[in-house]
Amino acid sequence: MSDFIGGEYDVIVVGAGHAGCEAALATARMGFRTAIFTLNLDNIANMPCNPNIGGTAKGQLVREIDALGGQMGIAADANLIQSKILNRGKGPAVYSLRAQIDRRAYSTYMKHVLEKQENLEIKQAEVTDVLCEAGKIKGIRVHTGTVYYCQALILTTGTYLKGSIIIGESKISSGPDGLLPANRLSDSLKGLGIELMRFKTGTPPRINERSIDYSKLIEQPGDEEIIPFSFMTGELNIEQVPCYMTHTTAETHRIIRENLHRSPLYSGEIKGIGPRYCPSIEDKVVRFADKESHQVFIEPMGLGTKEVYLQGMSTSMPEDVQIKMVRSLPGLENAQIMRPAYAIEYDCINPTQLKLSLEIKGIEGLFFAGQINGSSGYEEAAAQGIMAGINAALKLQNREPLILDRSQAYIGVLIDDLVTKGTREPYRMMTSRAEYRLYLRQDNADLRLTPIGYEIGLVSPERYKRFLVKKRLIEEEIKRLQDTILPANDRINDFLERHGSTRIVTGIKLYDLLKRPEIEYHYLNEIGQGADLPKEVIEQVSISIKYEGYLKRQMNQIEQFKRMEERHLPDDIDYASIHGLSSEAKQKLSSIKPVSLGQASRISGVSPADIAVLLVYLESRKRKS
Ligand SMILES: Cc1cc2nc3c(=O)[nH]c(=O)nc-3n(C[C@H](O)[C@H](O)[C@H](O)COP(=O)(O)OP(=O)(O)OC[C@H]3O[C@@H](n4cnc5c(N)ncnc54)[C@H](O)[C@@H]3O)c2cc1C
Repeated sequence: MSDFIGGEYDVIVVGAGHAGCEAALATARMGFRTAIFTLNLDNIANMPCNPNIGGTAKGQLVREIDALGGQMGIAADANLIQSKILNRGKGPAVYSLRAQIDRRAYSTYMKHVLEKQENLEIKQAEVTDVLCEAGKIKGIRVHTGTVYYCQALILTTGTYLKGSIIIGESKISSGPDGLLPANRLSDSLKGLGIELMRFKTGTPPRINERSIDYSKLIEQPGDEEIIPFSFMTGELNIEQVPCYMTHTTAETHRIIRENLHRSPLYSGEIKGIGPRYCPSIEDKVVRFADKESHQVFIEPMGLGTKEVYLQGMSTSMPEDVQIKMVRSLPGLENAQIMRPAYAIEYDCINPTQLKLSLEIKGIEGLFFAGQINGSSGYEEAAAQGIMAGINAALKLQNREPLILDRSQAYIGVLIDDLVTKGTREPYRMMTSRAEYRLYLRQDNADLRLTPIGYEIGLVSPERYKRFLVKKRLIEEEIKRLQDTILPANDRINDFLERHGSTRIVTGIKLYDLLKRPEIEYHYLNEIGQGADLPKEVIEQVSISIKYEGYLKRQMNQIEQFKRMEERHLPDDIDYASIHGLSSEAKQKLSSIKPVSLGQASRISGVSPADIAVLLVYLESRKRKS
């Protein structure tokens, strides 16, 4: 095969899924000549699983990507067909946006964004080899033998590496949705000494909605008011498409139990490790045997299709069993399966081989992002993609990498968990993983991250100016509420009584009045004290006042956390020689090479006693130096 050189770029991105799109847009927008490769141009930003973006903790990730100057939030707003805020009944720490997306339209939209992007070339080819020289990235080879050179390479290959699709007894080499797999790159990575793992995930069947009896289902409409994902999107008014709900029955469970021996999950045919938090229906029936039924949601996949997605019915059972299972659901007695459910096994890397910048240790200029890092989910992938893109660009600018820590962003929690703790199954983000979730809310992602996005050159000056206006309005309004004192007169006390709030005998600051749970900001209009401000400004003002106490406590915790994060660990420490460390700690610290005492304390197998030993070691090292 010829060694034709197809081109030279600053950055090459392999994969145009959710991670690859964000990575390539970031490097191109930061001024670097970038090429993005994918196996199939017609499936850019494909959604092989649930046709929705966001959800608990994932909504926060999308907002953070947007605040940094990423694309997913804007693309979701442009292609959503239903929108909801989840967990409204709980506190703002867990409010999460979730939108049903027109899957085809989203892919077309993202392809067009890539095509329009300056500094970016898009190519259809299978990358078969990673080329390195003297511990540094050099380029790639593709299936035609053509070679492309670059200074930084970002791999975002998703669920395609040695992909195999399993449906009952059938196992074929394939990517998702019947697309081509990538069967050669894994060996090239192994050849570079990179440790691979075998993971698995699954998806439910797709049904023709014409074959569903909707009179037996419960409608699940979207929220009346659509809250956009992107801080850049104005008001969104679309006619929303509802989801519907049905449930499994005793008959469904009987069919599953009687055919468990034919499930590749239980027959041992599937070797890859699957996500505990996204179980297949057979797993749910076995693990929660006392539950008589499980909810199943019928989700639309787009405006131009009759195909719907059966959320909650992920399986790899044989097709004949799938048909019986589906037709045992109320409303789906005559269901026509358009695409059977399946499980997919694929290669990914052990993410503890990565630095917090997502560059791999030992090969300069080689970055990884997305499902290839052991995560699961479009949002998790896109979050890693933008960070890998940013850090590849910063590296080429000889600047320090951008590391978001656990107190700054869900993105920081995601990457720290993967790189420091590793994962034994596809990792999905959850609010419970974020210690500082009251501060890491979806509503304030721009206040936390847009200044950073601007500083690194990804957020445009126009966007930053707009952000500064919002920030100023929030600060001015909080000051006005602190400075305005209401007199204890009849008018105010009538107002308080009207809202079931305690009367006052002396003057009260508006700020303190708003702290009262029964007083909402928009009530202030009744006493001429409301201000004509944008909704998102009022939201910030209300939350920061009503949760002031909790937020203060959280900020104290964050300060403590930061103190440990700021205790840097030089990378030349010989952990094996430190007396008093446990042997497991010596082994783990030597392989992960944490950058701080804080990161060291999160490595599994490193105990508080080990941290104490390290502290003493650092002090004596400081004294010696
Ligand atoms: C069957 C299935 C079920 C899933 N279920 C869930 C779920 O329940 N919950 C959940 O959160 N997530 C689920 N996911 C995961 C979700 O789809 C992924 O997390 C997400 O798409 C990952 O994004 P990514 O950018 O990392 O990779 P992908 O979106 O997979 O994109 C990978 C890209 O890399 C390209 N590529 C790969 N190898 C090469 C190569 N050698 N050369 C050139 N191009 C290459 C592909 O063409 C593609 O463009 C599921 C995925 C599948 C397939």
